[in-house]
Parts: sequence; C-alpha cells; structure tokens
Amino acid sequence: MNKVIIVGAGINGLVAANYLVKSGFDVSIIEKKSQTGGACIKDTVEIRNKKIDFAYGPTVLGMMPDFIFKETGLSKITQGYYPKTPKLVYFNGKETSTKIYQDHLKLEEELRDKWGETGKVNAFRNDENKVIKFIQELYKNGTSPSTDIANDCLGKELTRLWITGNAKDLLDHYFSSEKTKLYMGMTVIESGPASLYEPGTAFTIPLMDSGSVFDGYWGFVKTGIWKITENLTKINKDLGVKFYLESNIQEVDNDKNSISFSKNSKDFKLNYDQLIFATDPLTPSKFIKDFKNDINLDLIGTSGKVTAFFKNPVRWKDSNNYSDSFRFIFSVDTLESFENASQNALNDLDDYFPGFIQIYPEGSAQRKMDNNEYFDKLIFFTKNISYNKKALSLDKVKDKIISTVIPHIENPEDLVFSKFLTPKDLNETFLFPKGNIDHITLSGKQNFEKRTFSSKKDNFYSYYGYENIYYCGAGSFPCGSVAGTSGYMCSKQLIGNIKTHKD
Ligand SMILES: Cc1cc2nc3c(=O)[nH]c(=O)nc-3n(C[C@H](O)[C@H](O)[C@H](O)COP(=O)(O)OP(=O)(O)OC[C@H]3O[C@@H](n4cnc5c(N)ncnc54)[C@H](O)[C@@H]3O)c2cc1C
Repeated sequence: MNKVIIVGAGINGLVAANYLVKSGFDVSIIEKKSQTGGACIKDTVEIRNKKIDFAYGPTVLGMMPDFIFKETGLSKITQGYYPKTPKLVYFNGKETSTKIYQDHLKLEEELRDKWGETGKVNAFRNDENKVIKFIQELYKNGTSPSTDIANDCLGKELTRLWITGNAKDLLDHYFSSEKTKLYMGMTVIESGPASLYEPGTAFTIPLMDSGSVFDGYWGFVKTGIWKITENLTKINKDLGVKFYLESNIQEVDNDKNSISFSKNSKDFKLNYDQLIFATDPLTPSKFIKDFKNDINLDLIGTSGKVTAFFKNPVRWKDSNNYSDSFRFIFSVDTLESFENASQNALNDLDDYFPGFIQIYPEGSAQRKMDNNEYFDKLIFFTKNISYNKKALSLDKVKDKIISTVIPHIENPEDLVFSKFLTPKDLNETFLFPKGNIDHITLSGKQNFEKRTFSSKKDNFYSYYGYENIYYCGAGSFPCGSVAGTSGYMCSKQLIGNIKTHKD
C-alpha cells in the first residue's frame, strides 16, 4: 500500500489525511504538539469558580467549501449556524450603524443613504459572485490557479480587476464613497499588512467570501469551532489514520524516503512513498536533508484577538435585536489612513495603529444553537498590532481595543474577564512564523497562482521541486482559515500524480 506521512495535524493535515485514507493510502500523521487541531483548538479559563471553554485561535467558520464539510463526514456530527441579519458598521464616534444587507439592492439603497455612495454596489456584488464561482470551481476540481484559466473563464477585464490588479483600483472602479471602499476592502489586510496598491491584492477580497459551508457568509459552530478539528480527528482515527503526537522530527532523508523523529524519549524512523508538510512553509526547509533553496517570504502578521467574557448577555445600544450580527468599528475613514495604519504596523513604528475591529458575537450565536453557557462571549479581532511584544506587556493596547467597543454596550459592568493575544503570542502559541494567521502574508506576490512553493508548473503543491514532498499548509493556495481547501487540493493532486505514474 502506498505510504503517506503528513507532518502537522491542523485543519489542512486532517483534511488531506481524510481524503487520502479514503482513497486507499496508508496514512500517518506526525504532530509536534500533544493534541491535534493546530491553531483550531480551545482554551479554558476559570472565572468566579466556573470553567468556560473558548476558541483559542480561530472563532468563526466561513471559508470551508460545503463539499469538504459533507465529504469528510463533518456535516453529520457538527452543527453550524450563520446569522441572516445584516452586519452592522460603525465609524468612530457614531453610535448608529450602517446595515450591510445580504440583499444587493437593499444594500445599494442603504449605502447611498448613509455613506452617499453613488457607485455600482449591485454590479460589484454581481461581478464578485462571478469571481467567487470561478474560485469555487478551482477548489472543487482541485485545479491549480492560473491567470490563463482566469482569462478563459472570466474574461480579461474581470481578471485584471479582480485577480491580477490591486485592491485600490478595484475599489475605485466600483465605488465613490471612502466608507464603502473601506468596508468592502478591509479584508485585504486580513492576514497581514498587504498594501492596497500592490498588484495581486484585489484577489483577497473575493477570496475571503469564497467558502460555501454557509453560502459565502461567516458563522459559528455549536460549542466552538474547535469541534471541527476535534470531530475530524475522530473520523480520521476511525478510518485508520495513525497519529504520532508529541513527536520531534530530527531529519527527512529524501534519498532514502524516511523521516526520523523522537517521541517519549524513543527514536522512530518511518519510510514514506509521499511526504506532505501541512505546517507553515518554513518548517520543511529545516528538516529536509541538504535543503539549499533560498526562501524569501513576506511573513509578518498583525492580527490581535481579545476574547471578552460578560456575566450577563451583552445588550447593545444600537440594534440589540440583531444580537447575533457581526459588528465592525472603524477608527479610520479614508483608504489613505487605512493604508498608513497598516504600513506603520508593518514598519513597527508603534505598538498599535487602530484601523478596524471585527466583533464576533460568539455567545449570542451559541444561545441560538441552544448552547447556554455561564458567560456571554464577544471576540474583538483587530489588525495593525506590531510584531515583537507579547500581550502581557501590551495592556494599554488591550485597553484601547476594549474601550473602542465598550461605548456601544449598555451593560459594560458585566465584563468580568478578557484574554488578549498579539502576533508575537500567535508565533509562540501556534508556531506561526511572525504571527501570521495565514502562515505568510496575502501580499500580491503570494496570492492566487503565486501562492505556491513549487518550481513545477504542473505540480502546484510540490515543495521546491522535490518529487514526492508536498506542502499544503495555510501558506499555500488559497490561504489559511479553518477550511482545509489546500489540504484537499494537495491530496487530489497527489492522487492524480500517482494514477498518472501507474498508467
Ligand atoms: C487568533 C487567531 C484567529 C483566527 N481567526 C480565524 C477565524 O475566525 N476563522 C478562520 O477560518 N481562521 C482563523 N484563523 C486562521 C486559521 O486558524 C489558520 O489559518 C488555520 O487554522 C491554519 O491551518 P493549517 O492546518 O494550515 O495550519 P496550523 O493550524 O498551523 O497547523 C499546523 C500544525 O503543524 C504542526 N507543526 C508545526 N511544526 C511542526 C513540526 N516541526 N513537527 C510536527 N508538527 C509540526 C503544528 O503544531 C500544527 O498542529 C485564526 C488564527 C488565529 C491564530
């Protein structure tokens, strides 16, 4: 039986393992930590003698394709939910929101009334949907991204605007109002400080909406998002995947196709036919014998996360009936100030440059799924925090984030505990190089067809041209997130390569 070893038991390693074991491969996973899940795990705190679990890394599910959710077996044992209510957007100092309706025409009207938008909101959404459909086809068919295919499927104009172009031009093409541009363009810095002016950054905008588990929207998992990786681990074990946890790799001998590691003070050596790294993209280079390639990547991440615990359900001053809506608070109101804030963080000019805060109403969503917990939970996810300092020495930044949200809440006295993570913490906790939630930045030179480490055009997920070594972590196409898409696409390519070889 063809032997595959996967290094890394995050969502991508787990999804790859699921497809490979079902295709008849003998699959083993080697993981450094004592548990599976990678970044998608829970943490627990005790507040007032009551223990509560919360999402340590990711919180919301959105980018997973629905076919992965179903085909892996996850959909049978995992309950999810996404709010149908409009998202609510606030600009600094304003307590009333602009509503981002799911209905395009209603949205066009709202943006005209609130932000004086006179551009093409409906056309933007329609064109974005065409691009998303195109991306989803790539996912499903395991087709490697290429500008040629995009030109064939979408035409030259949409490809230039949405895939090879820069985010600033895309936003200017459709919108007149700076506020609309900011809202529609904010995901360009989702993974790190990519510049709006850099060719290739337009693609991140449709990319972030290209999941289909919730029809392109973002939502929640009952109990918490870690149930995705926890459940997939169980499914994979039942299918016969072998797990080696708490294992320290020593060397990959790619001449002899073997990997050596230690576990519980014992040394192991396993042979493989195919080796997949579902880690960050720097890790394989540390272990492959005589690795000599130059690696030059944009790595820096600027995401910070505050999890806030309330002893009673949060009451919003505005639109409290939309308690499970995502809310966004902007501290900048032009694209120029948005760009400056993110570039200042990149250049480490200060600890934090407020740009926007995404608020995830985790507790309210859990109640909608009949999971009533002791505390209400809100997550404040923000960008533009410089690398280098851990949360423990950045109390002022945490206070600044919390104090931006608190004026919108009726019952701030119910906030009893909060937990903060900075990019430096993400590096130390989740082993993300430079704290990037996508392992590497979604900058123009690392987006779409350039998000690969392969020197072979027809072998997109191969690692630096090694015949039987693959890479499928968050640093490969499409990007990070609790999606497993790169794990799926890589497994499809590997299966295809073996079939071709046999034929
Ligand atoms: C704070 C935070 C918030 C986020 N928010 C969201 C969100 O709300 N929604 C969302 O979809 N995504 C979110 N993300 C991003 C998402 O969590 C990641 O992109 C995704 O989990 C990456 O999955 P992966 O399998 O590629 O890699 P990882 O989860 O990083 O898994 C890689 C695995 O490889 C293991 N490994 C590394 N080195 C070695 C080695 N030498 N030997 C053996 N094993 C090794 C690691 O221990 C790990 O288990 C967030 C991330 C963070 C940290």
